[in-house]
Amino acid sequence: MNRVETAGARPAVFLDRDGTIIEDRGHLGHIGQIELFPFAVEALRMLQEKYLLFIVTNQSGVSLGTITRDAAERVNTHVVRMLLSHGITIQQVYCCFHARHDQCDCIKPRPYFIEKAAGQFSIDIPRSYSIGDHPHDVEFGRAAGATGLYVFTGHGQKHKRELAHGALCFDDLLSAAQWIMAH
Ligand SMILES: [Mg+2]
Ligand SMILES: [Zn+2]
Repeated sequence: MNRVETAGARPAVFLDRDGTIIEDRGHLGHIGQIELFPFAVEALRMLQEKYLLFIVTNQSGVSLGTITRDAAERVNTHVVRMLLSHGITIQQVYCCFHARHDQCDCIKPRPYFIEKAAGQFSIDIPRSYSIGDHPHDVEFGRAAGATGLYVFTGHGQKHKRELAHGALCFDDLLSAAQWIMAH
């Protein structure tokens, strides 16, 4: 991708939603089912001191017909509101509503949404991170020229054998955030 060095560009963290910030309920369509991980608020408060925060989520249930697009968007909006009530600002939620067989451009690990964010915000991508509980969340950051971090919450334990060798792994979002802030 072409990237122009911009004065004042800020690094960002691109966060997976399900299994990373909130419990993974699978095709979550009701705001009543949203459960923030207990460590998420502390982790995100820490990160936002230095990083713009984005949520990037694949909601294949929309394509598969298990949830509506409106329901997926209501959940995204509610997660943002819950975090805002704790003083955390999510700049934007980017959501892929497709399933893998749709072969869209925006499904992770394709770096589409990081590139889109870079077009909308002034972002220092080499100093940015992606974090998530699926190997695709790690590859997503790497493919854009950022650093991908893996967490063992959500589906993290289940998929860890599929991780690329040498991937940076953490127990949860809080330990990943502490590592980022120490770098
Ligand atoms: Mg996830
Ligand atoms: Zn998509």
